[in-house]
Amino acid sequence: MAAVKNVMDVFKVLKKTNCRECNEKTCLAFAAAVFKKDRQLNECPYVDQAVIESLGGNIETLQTMADDQEAGVDALKQEVSQIDLAAAARRTGGVFSDDRLTLKVFGKDFSIDSKGALTTEIHVNPWVVAPLLTYILNCNGLPLSGEWVTFKELESGKPWQGLFGQRCEIPLKKVIDDYTDLLEDLIHIFNGREEKGLYNSDISLTLLPLPKMPMLICYWKPEDGLDSDLHLLFDSTAEKNCSIEGIYSLGTGLVTMFEKLALKHGGQ
Ligand code: SF4
Repeated sequence: MAAVKNVMDVFKVLKKTNCRECNEKTCLAFAAAVFKKDRQLNECPYVDQAVIESLGGNIETLQTMADDQEAGVDALKQEVSQIDLAAAARRTGGVFSDDRLTLKVFGKDFSIDSKGALTTEIHVNPWVVAPLLTYILNCNGLPLSGEWVTFKELESGKPWQGLFGQRCEIPLKKVIDDYTDLLEDLIHIFNGREEKGLYNSDISLTLLPLPKMPMLICYWKPEDGLDSDLHLLFDSTAEKNCSIEGIYSLGTGLVTMFEKLALKHGGQ
């Protein structure tokens, strides 16, 4: 039986037309209600019976988020332990040595050995570990194009854009609105690099969470009664080196990490 790890796992089996036949305003709202067990997946008339059965029908088998997250990471570690780590190092922009693949995560070492054991130089939020391991498994090794694109402009980004905005861009904008020092922290703690006003933004900053997965944060301050704005951009090859789900998970994981950082520093 397939495991449902989060709202996104429910959302991706829906038709994403926001037709409202389930009496929810959007497919995302329906997915959230299913995940919370307020609704049942078979209340959307457009989900195949086979999918309903594979997800456990009424999703009564959902575990807690933490349990599920841990189980998901363990499964990924297991998968990584089965692959050729030397070949994975060549694909992912990492280094293989002493039975260990090491990747630079925000410029700091993150290693995994052939038994699936992790070693990191920095505290990596568990929400980020799963996308890191997924990247090791799926990265195709395409060189970066140097062309920045929005999430929506990625090949499979459009259907995910609403969810990405809600879970990544809006919360990140809020953190920066409330805690402007976050950008300084991103430079110092996460080896971010400030860029020169790209896209006429007030602040633009690149981060390198993974060797072939740079991200650009562009932030516009509030002005003349207009709200602030923020966009996260990716290299146009991002989806070739990480699936759209992986990019989405990495984005939400990073935002969760930044929110915790802001809280810890008393910004909110
Ligand atoms: S009925 Fe299904 S497709 Fe229509 S809005 Fe609800 S979840 Fe989305």
